[in-house]
Amino acid sequence: RAKREGRGRVCFFESEMDQELRDRRLLQHDLRQALEQNQLLVYFQPQARMDGEVIGFEALLRWNHPTRGFVPPDQFIPLAEENGLIVEIGEWVLREACREAASWPRPLQVAVNLSPVQFQTGDLERVIHQILLETGLSPTRLEVEITEGVLIGDFTRALTLLRRLKALGVRIAMDDFGTGYSSLSYLQSFPFDKIKIDRSFISNLEAKPQSAEIVRAVLSLAHALNIPVVAEGVETEAQRAFLAHEACEEMQGYLVGRPELIERYLDLVGVAVERRLYA
Ligand code: C2E
Ligand code: MG
Ligand code: MG
Ligand code: MG
Repeated sequence: RAKREGRGRVCFFESEMDQELRDRRLLQHDLRQALEQNQLLVYFQPQARMDGEVIGFEALLRWNHPTRGFVPPDQFIPLAEENGLIVEIGEWVLREACREAASWPRPLQVAVNLSPVQFQTGDLERVIHQILLETGLSPTRLEVEITEGVLIGDFTRALTLLRRLKALGVRIAMDDFGTGYSSLSYLQSFPFDKIKIDRSFISNLEAKPQSAEIVRAVLSLAHALNIPVVAEGVETEAQRAFLAHEACEEMQGYLVGRPELIERYLDLVGVAVERRLYA
């Protein structure tokens, strides 16, 4: 009897897996049309100094699916990486973000996330160079954010590309610092322009004494290496005060502002109210 129940459970489990797989294929299929049908949007989230002065924005991709509504990037980006579509999508995000930033009266920074797949396939350096020329954005205003996934695959190829991007004047940030397997070892292989401490450490600042110690240690390490630090996911004044006291350079999080359409932040980028009303 136990055996029969066991088998039943296995079947149930398998059909659930089938369902999940079908659903992923369906989403993957829809994603192909998303670009052409203007379902993809770039949101912008402010990045600020600890006193609240906004110095730039991170571009964050959004997919407004016709029937499912907004699908979170953590769900659809892995699918786009699986079928390679992220190369085309990533190029689109870069172009949108650079074009947008080039139109701002204030020379603020714009940060764009890059997928490991964009490093493995396609001609990332040429694409970025071309987009910078086309939009007229100064390379020093573009920052690309990478996670350790970029360095896990073809390490040599990734390093070469990073060096070439840096030679163009583009800045390189290490994203989600502290969550990977060997964040530390990557600091000795490449001169990152910025370290972004992962949100998980910031959100636990008050609840876990260990998190506060880890944040302190990351800050002290980064400062010894002369690398400025951005704290991700800062939501409360208490977190901001702690980070400011520990000499963290920058913050990003709901305390400063959520990811939104750039229209919401036009005053920050220096666009006059009139253009907002009549654009
Ligand atoms: P990320 O690059 O680490 O982006 C930061 C994430 O933290 C964003 O999630 C942002 O909305 C969220 N966040 C920021 N401040 C707060 C806060 O105070 N509280 C909370 N709870 N969350 C906060 P989002 O937009 O859902 O993006 C998730 C991830 O998807 C990103 O993590 C990035 O890895 C990836 N992603 C987003 N856009 C792109 C893109 O254009 N290309 C690639 N390759 N990946 C992207
Ligand atoms: Mg990021
Ligand atoms: Mg991050
Ligand atoms: Mg992340």
